[in-house]
Amino acid sequence: MGGKKVILDEPNRKWACKNCDWRGVQSSILRAANPFDAGDILCGCPQCKSVDSFTEICDEPRCEKEATCGWKPKDAPYRRTCHVHMGEHDYGPST
Ligand SMILES: [Zn+2]
Ligand SMILES: [Zn+2]
Repeated sequence: MGGKKVILDEPNRKWACKNCDWRGVQSSILRAANPFDAGDILCGCPQCKSVDSFTEICDEPRCEKEATCGWKPKDAPYRRTCHVHMGEHDYGPST
């Protein structure tokens, strides 16, 4: 419990479970209507079944660090990355 609320309208965002080693995209997360709060959706880990235990992962391909920075690159969609990839604009192979 106490994880970040999963953003359900951004299917390509990556998430990690805080209670086990599961990592994946939002579309593979289990979801169910919250019986205590109409309109709220509970999100469950497909591996350990814990609820709302997710943390967001850096959107850089192959990076599995926690996304701690949100920023808006020039002429590109909003990013959620770790501090290492904060401010990077180049998606090409790093040298
Ligand atoms: Zn889990
Ligand atoms: Zn990163």
